[in-house]
Amino acid sequence: MNYVEETISKYEKYINPAQAKLFRFMGLGSIEASAEGWTITDSEGRQFTDFLGGYGMFAVGHRNPKVVEAVERELHGMPMCGKVLFNRPMADLAEALAEITPGDLQYSFFVNSGTEAVEGCLKMARLATKRTKFVAAKDAFHGKTMGSLTATGRDLYRQPFQPLLNGFTHVPFGDAAALEAVVDEETAAVILEPIQGEGGIIVPPAGYLKQAKAICEAKGALLIADEVQTGIGRTGTWFGCNHDGVAPDLMACAKALGGGVMPIGAIIGSPKAWEGLIEAPFLHTSTFGGNQLACAAGVATIQYIKEENLLVRSSEVGAYLKAGLQKIAEEFPSVIKEVRGTGMMLGIELTKEGAGGMLMSLMIDKNVIVAYTLNNPKVIRMEPPLIVPKEVVDEVLAKFYDAVKMTADVIEDLD
Ligand code: PLP
Repeated sequence: MNYVEETISKYEKYINPAQAKLFRFMGLGSIEASAEGWTITDSEGRQFTDFLGGYGMFAVGHRNPKVVEAVERELHGMPMCGKVLFNRPMADLAEALAEITPGDLQYSFFVNSGTEAVEGCLKMARLATKRTKFVAAKDAFHGKTMGSLTATGRDLYRQPFQPLLNGFTHVPFGDAAALEAVVDEETAAVILEPIQGEGGIIVPPAGYLKQAKAICEAKGALLIADEVQTGIGRTGTWFGCNHDGVAPDLMACAKALGGGVMPIGAIIGSPKAWEGLIEAPFLHTSTFGGNQLACAAGVATIQYIKEENLLVRSSEVGAYLKAGLQKIAEEFPSVIKEVRGTGMMLGIELTKEGAGGMLMSLMIDKNVIVAYTLNNPKVIRMEPPLIVPKEVVDEVLAKFYDAVKMTADVIEDLD
């Protein structure tokens, strides 16, 4: 058995045989060995252009040298926090987040993933309001631990784990009137993604978050922005809620915050949302959360985005990529229904169920990694590192054109 076969057989035996089969079926029979910038190299030396970006995690690219350097510095000093003495990288990251987040968001609590950040926001909202009801959106994705899974709006993931938490209502995303109809004096918080990622890159009407905030304020509820995917520059602004000029009361952040080198999540809140935790700081704790390696990665990531002007760059290159995709969509209406998204968070909705898997395989065949969205397999998403240059976008667009053309031919033959 060679290295690849050995690895796949270990997956089959010790991880999950069905997952191994699915990967093989999608033409993903290779092992990631190293990565740099927007390129992933497998164990056989084959190079892939990464236009999935770890579902939004690799905003500053793979193995960003500034992030690696910052993490290495901590690695040889105090990599994991002892939790008893003060921790400088954590203090620095909390300060940096307070500076880039909107409104009066000020305090941070650090965790290790997106779902934990959402769990923390839900707990903080209950603590601050002494209420227990929540409103979330249909097709939302907030993670898969019990609390965030309750907020997640897709039954496929929820059903096997019922009963979940009580008191959650799901309303259509982007519909302020539907939100207003259910938020009441018992609602602790409304939780929303500024752009639904796994739901299929759904951009709500302009002003939706602003309306949501006003609805919450009128009933004494809090607004939680789940910025796990949209946060840290993905949409061409620091946060998705910046597009609406809205400051939520609580924000969940993760993915890109670790610079693609360390796992980290953050619960960020206003002084009002934080009162309960200030009174009793040990109501929420985490052994690994806030460790120096992860916080140093976060500080270096924010610094890098500022220094390289990545917010402007990503919105310009993102618009260029979107325009290129729209041109392809116009030529192949039998394959592509719509191209949507903001900055470097783009979705391509296909006309047919099943075309997503086919396009994904064709692109992988052409050494470009893309994937469909978790809650909507009819939508291919592109979330490349924000540093990707226009020349690489051109190469990917040329390959995507060929893949869509092949798909159009197959659809024509089937029809
Ligand atoms: N919230 C949003 C908006 C996400 O997109 C995700 C993951 O895709 C999560 C939460 C969960 O994050 P994690 O997978 O790190 O738990």
